[in-house]
Amino acid sequence: MNCYECAQSGRASAAVAICRLCGAAVCTEHVHSEPMQVREPAQPGKVIHDQSARRLTCPLCRAAEESV
Ligand SMILES: [Zn+2]
Ligand SMILES: [Zn+2]
Repeated sequence: MNCYECAQSGRASAAVAICRLCGAAVCTEHVHSEPMQVREPAQPGKVIHDQSARRLTCPLCRAAEESV
C-alpha cells in the first residue's frame, strides 16, 4: 500500500503505518507517532502499572485534533 498523503500530491511512497482515526495509510514522512499511557483498571490484589502504547495518526487527523 502507498501513502495516502503522498498519493494526493501525485507521489508514491510506501506506507509504514495506518492512521488510527481514519484508516489512511501513511509513510514515515507523514505519520505522526505519539506515546500514549494506558492505565489498567485497578483490581484487588493486583499492582497497577502503566503500559506504554503508541498512537499513530495522519497529518489530517492530527491537524483536526489540534484545532479542537
Ligand atoms: Zn507520505
Ligand atoms: Zn487520519
